[in-house]
Amino acid sequence: MKTAVYPGSFDPVTYGHIDIIKRASEMFDTLVVTVMINSAKTSLFSLDERVNMLKEATKDIPNVVIDSYNGLLIDYCRDKKIHIAIRGLRAITDFEYELQIAQTNKELSHNEVDTVFLTTNLKYSYLSSSTVKEIASYNGDIYPCVPKFVASALYDKYGYIHNENQGGTTE
Ligand code: ADP
Repeated sequence: MKTAVYPGSFDPVTYGHIDIIKRASEMFDTLVVTVMINSAKTSLFSLDERVNMLKEATKDIPNVVIDSYNGLLIDYCRDKKIHIAIRGLRAITDFEYELQIAQTNKELSHNEVDTVFLTTNLKYSYLSSSTVKEIASYNGDIYPCVPKFVASALYDKYGYIHNENQGGTTE
């Protein structure tokens, strides 16, 4: 049984993440999507909110499991006996950062953890959780970027009222 972990902040999950999750879930028997608690980032959504949004967004993919972890990815992988981490690449700017993290994880884990990169679906290459939050904070249209229930949660955080019939574009 091949298992991989897709770690990230997912604050909140976007169609870009969901696309990577769908594609990675077809490559492995089990894909664990793990919300990592990143002390360097202040998150808009609580850990529980992020986990629950991921659960809802992936409920139709049977081999996807949602988890969370406070610690280093390599320690998580050792505990769970996982040897492959999935990361998404949107642009060359992601590459430098991701390469450094991948090499660090490989080194620190004594070659136990390898990283597999999936390149973004071009449709979503512009998408990041931070951009989506910024657009939502100005009451802009985020329906093309995130599932409707995530959009509602985002508008709610910024104090905007949107009724559930709003937003034409969904996946
Ligand atoms: P982190 O805080 O770990 O960077 P994110 O939740 O921002 O977490 O992203 C998790 C992973 O998903 C990263 O590898 C990131 O590059 C990737 N990712 C984010 N948005 C997209 C996208 N639109 N297309 C492809 N990969 C993406």
